[in-house]
Amino acid sequence: MTLHQLLNQGTGQLERAGDGEAGTDARRLLLEAFRLDTVHFLMNRMEPLEDTEAVAYAVQDYRQMIDKRCRRMPLQYIVGSQEFMGLEFRVNRHVLIPRQDTETLVELVLEEQKNPRRRVLDLCTGSGCIAVSLAVLGKFQDVTATDLSEEALKTAKNNQERLLEGRRIRFLQGDLFHALRPGDTYDILTANPPYIPTQIIKGLQPEVQNYEPLMALDGDQDGLCFYRRIAAEAGEWLNAGGCIYLEIGHDQAEAVSGLLKEAGFDKIKVIKDLPGKDRVVRAELTDKKEKGGSHV
Ligand code: GLN
Repeated sequence: MTLHQLLNQGTGQLERAGDGEAGTDARRLLLEAFRLDTVHFLMNRMEPLEDTEAVAYAVQDYRQMIDKRCRRMPLQYIVGSQEFMGLEFRVNRHVLIPRQDTETLVELVLEEQKNPRRRVLDLCTGSGCIAVSLAVLGKFQDVTATDLSEEALKTAKNNQERLLEGRRIRFLQGDLFHALRPGDTYDILTANPPYIPTQIIKGLQPEVQNYEPLMALDGDQDGLCFYRRIAAEAGEWLNAGGCIYLEIGHDQAEAVSGLLKEAGFDKIKVIKDLPGKDRVVRAELTDKKEKGGSHV
């Protein structure tokens, strides 16, 4: 048996299971099982495999991973990681797999916010991909990240430990702002909250619907539930001149901009992702005193 044959078998199985990326996925799993890089795979793929215990183990591992993928488990949960902003994040079923869409948000913050002393708050941190990327790439020294899920926070902490030397992110468990210490204030607020309307979720691809954490996706009836809460409460936690950056669904720009405007934010801007869809809303709290109801 050769690697080439294993690859063909796996690709066939994945194609029959409806995997649109069967060839690439099978190859990724083969490299993972045999701990090979692409160059060594290409050089050796036609060679008969050695008859050793290690090879037998790798073949078994590969077949098990192919089976999982046939059941439409996302590749990232099978191999346990996803690259985001050039950093390797560990992922598992307790956290949403970091998306390229979310890189749009991180890139915007890095572009607009050059002062690493500004205090960052990342709500619904999940794998920690936004918080950790900002700490690593933007060198922000004071970053707080919150999540309702203890398991998500464990994953985020693990990512911090692997990716961030020295500086530490404060991880707090709780429902949005309830996780925070009263009296603390921030300059930059980021969030990729759950934003998919409940009834849409059952129409999503099996990878998302059956494997990704529902609590990271479900934005209630109209998908806007978390934006309402964030917009209404953010003013209390942001310093004057503070900025908010929210990832949104492609059709939520108007609604989310409206909520922020209503809550007293200005300089509201909608930013598109690489495929050209509305993806991030950013806004500023220029003058805190004008915000009705804020604690002045
Ligand atoms: N971008 C994710 C998706 O389309 C949803 C993320 C979220 O709800 N925050 O699957």
